[in-house]
Amino acid sequence: MPLCPRCEHQVKPTDLVCSRCRLQLKAHGHPSIELHQTSTGEILCKTCAYDADDTCTFPQRPHAQTCTLYQSITAEAEREKGQVRSPVSPPPSLGLIWQRYRVWIILLAIFGISLLITVF
Ligand code: SF4
Ligand SMILES: [Zn+2]
Repeated sequence: MPLCPRCEHQVKPTDLVCSRCRLQLKAHGHPSIELHQTSTGEILCKTCAYDADDTCTFPQRPHAQTCTLYQSITAEAEREKGQVRSPVSPPPSLGLIWQRYRVWIILLAIFGISLLITVF
């Protein structure tokens, strides 16, 4: 069972908040959207693979202390070296896709609506 990053109380993988210290464990009230954070309040971006490869577009970068997409550089490097077998990852949730690509989704929707208005 996972531990709460603040008080180290055992929590269920689906808990939205820690039952002891009420720390938020999941984002957007959804049990499948992990909210990554450190117990000491360190900046996550310093050790994040998305910061290292400059692909992160989150506004909280480079000062994020909590993040739903945090990916440890060391875990990424070990996976590339084949030291850690990648688990079969579940398909990304709609919430995650929306969070990561919302600007492009909105722009695409505006473009599509404009195109429809122009054609009809
Ligand atoms: S994904 Fe999150 S932790 Fe990683 S660089 Fe972007 S904001 Fe920082
Ligand atoms: Zn706790």
